[in-house]
Amino acid sequence: MARNSVQFQKGLSEAEFEELYGTEEKCRAVVMNSRWPNGFECPVCGGHEYSEVTTRRLFQCSACRRQTSLIAGTIFASTHVPLRLWFRAMYHLTQSKQGISSIELGRRLGVRQNTAWKMKHKLAQVMMERDVSKQLTGRVEIDDAYLGGERTGGKRGRGAPGKTPFVAAVETTPEGKPVRVQLRRVANFCKHTISGFAKRSLDPSCEVVSDGLNCFGGVTDAGCKHEVIKTGSGPAAARTPAFKWVNTALGNVKAAIVGTYRSIHEKHVPRYLAEFEYRFNRRYDLGAMLPRLTWAAVRTPPMPYRLLKLADVYA
Ligand SMILES: [Zn+2]
Repeated sequence: MARNSVQFQKGLSEAEFEELYGTEEKCRAVVMNSRWPNGFECPVCGGHEYSEVTTRRLFQCSACRRQTSLIAGTIFASTHVPLRLWFRAMYHLTQSKQGISSIELGRRLGVRQNTAWKMKHKLAQVMMERDVSKQLTGRVEIDDAYLGGERTGGKRGRGAPGKTPFVAAVETTPEGKPVRVQLRRVANFCKHTISGFAKRSLDPSCEVVSDGLNCFGGVTDAGCKHEVIKTGSGPAAARTPAFKWVNTALGNVKAAIVGTYRSIHEKHVPRYLAEFEYRFNRRYDLGAMLPRLTWAAVRTPPMPYRLLKLADVYA
């Protein structure tokens, strides 16, 4: 079964990580190849000729004379942390199924928790921006869910106070095997909100199954088919085969978040969800996650801390 090939795949061992990304020079070479696969390109004029200002490790464009650094204009420029620590952070973020708290990350990197927190959220922002415009296709199980407050995973009330609502949608094969997941914060569970979510996140070809919460009828605005399967309530509802994967994904995301974080603030919920979503959607190739995240990171501009705090995307 597919799940076993995920659980037992090799991933990237710590030894392999050291071999590939163990020194600052190795990380610089990886960033260089990822940012400029066809060789240096001046961010101002696009020129390819350059000379190196070796004392300051800058590249000087031979055409316009502009000096630029390897990480200028990328997410890695947003702290003074060396690249090899960024790569370690990406390693921990992508290879651990449960995610990693900033306290633990700080300990492993030997940086202050505050620095670890910023790195983690910037990388989660990269993950979020990477996936935000992708759409699910085919059969989709959808459900409403809540996170946050003092403890997550407690009362599963619809509209429980202090909790952040989000939509969980799982694309499956026609046979019901999970393909991809989307976890998107929403302002509420009104029909027009779900309509907006569906237009952004679901291809019109989708055949959506829900338990009949009224708002989910909004998916038809995006051209999707909608099938209601009544589940009743309580534990029996969670066992309904039609919702097996959305329930499994929700169980996993809540276990991961409860297990890793004491509490999470509402404004950060989208990035915690994005982190989980990113890992889940790339679970078949753990080893490739690091180069892929690097590729996205060098194409994501550095974000000031104040903007990071405001950058939540409402689905
Ligand atoms: Zn230039």
